Amino acid sequence: MARKRKDILILADSTPGHARSRLAADLDILYPDRVAKIDFTATRTTAASLAPYACVITEVGNGANLPRLNYRSVTAYARQGGQVMSCLFEYAENRGLRLSKTHVLDRVRPAMQIDVECDVTRGFAAGDRVWWFGCIENTADTRYENQMHQRQVMGVRESDRVRILATSNLNHAAVMIEEKVGKGRIVALDMLSPGRPYFNSHGATNKYLFLANMLGSGVRHGKHYRKRLSYDEFVDAMADLARAYPDLTLQNEGPCSDGRDMWSFSLGDEAKPTLYVGASIHGWEWENSYGILRLAEVLAEKPDVEGLDTSRLHFKLMPIQNPWGHDHFTRQNARGVDLNRNFDCAWEDLPQVQDVATPWDYNYQGARPASERETRIIQGIVERHRPVCVIDFHTADYGLVRPYRGDQALVDAIQANVKARLKDRFLCQRPSSGPFQQVNMDYISKPAGPRPYLIDYAAREGAAAAFVIEMSGNRDDVHALVMNVDTVVEICLAATQECLVGAIMNS
Ligand SMILES: [Zn+2]
Repeated sequence: MARKRKDILILADSTPGHARSRLAADLDILYPDRVAKIDFTATRTTAASLAPYACVITEVGNGANLPRLNYRSVTAYARQGGQVMSCLFEYAENRGLRLSKTHVLDRVRPAMQIDVECDVTRGFAAGDRVWWFGCIENTADTRYENQMHQRQVMGVRESDRVRILATSNLNHAAVMIEEKVGKGRIVALDMLSPGRPYFNSHGATNKYLFLANMLGSGVRHGKHYRKRLSYDEFVDAMADLARAYPDLTLQNEGPCSDGRDMWSFSLGDEAKPTLYVGASIHGWEWENSYGILRLAEVLAEKPDVEGLDTSRLHFKLMPIQNPWGHDHFTRQNARGVDLNRNFDCAWEDLPQVQDVATPWDYNYQGARPASERETRIIQGIVERHRPVCVIDFHTADYGLVRPYRGDQALVDAIQANVKARLKDRFLCQRPSSGPFQQVNMDYISKPAGPRPYLIDYAAREGAAAAFVIEMSGNRDDVHALVMNVDTVVEICLAATQECLVGAIMNS
């Protein structure tokens, strides 16, 4: 096998400390075998020595080392077509601008407001805000949100060559700048302050997203949503989408456990093989619902997305399968039942984890099979449409849970497709203080069950590929939504692609 060329260069100083090693360690996870490191205090760079790299990242950890960074060589590299991501300090110093570092002691969380929609800010709309700050080293920032800091550059003059991509919510100074230099460019962005993307960090979750966008491997279908919507607001958003795209039909599926109606999208000819996608059956696993909302938009806007003939399929999408739990941030529905233990499939065989099972127990399965309205509505959809593929999105960790029966080769093909799509895209810490890893679907379970889960019920009713996707989530804010949304859409497109080439379509 040919050895991959290292095409990303980090130019950093040898300051003992956390920042440089942290950045290098993260990039080694995100772009395995692609990252070269040069200590600019020991090795003088020239435009020619930088030329082989596709991207150069500069990071001066110790201000005293600044004179030893040959910024002229970095600029000359850009002029010849190079892509540079430069931290704000050295950019400001080399352009005669003033660096500002703001410490926030309380109440205001530092953010960047996106001002320009371009390749680097892909996934965000002008006016969107994303948290962007540093905190105490090696500490989850949620614990020390009274000690945050953010760097900005003051006095940037915009021109044909220079534009401010994002500004600070604290002082309106520039947080992200793009300077076109010859055939290339320098994007100035602080990679020093934000820490590692801790599982539920605010300031650092999207730290590598803009770099990935610059490299062309970042956001493809993801989108930021500005706030976590209530169920009723979410249904309004679904209705707005259905109004904008006449092919997208909003359907009332009837009342759930709190009396409110459940709503789904239908897209395409119902006589065609159905792909059912649902999320938030455990109500607090809410993020993926936005991915399904986005999927509906992508499919309605471009039925031939990626050259796929999606008109050969019928899509049934239920972004929120547990409205009450979604609103109240619970696993269960309004009656304390874990809906994904309530399906009429081997219900009697579910092991009891409590001596006397009662509502609100973690996995409380209900008084009898399909005792819950939500369960019966979803079972009814499965009965009516007999989907070939069922994807049930959850959040816990990363992984794919196989159905107990069905076309395992098709499930394998979908997983392989998902893995290829997600490779070298996003970095995240696994939940519960686990290691940092790429956001992927490398893990797949062995067939087990049947169990009173939606996927096993669907598999028993003939779905060729019914599976659970576990993603990270249950966060307290929308700061990770671009990543979740992008990943959900990729996974659904992978399933669509494999269903279209699979034997199902020809049988
Ligand atoms: Zn779940």
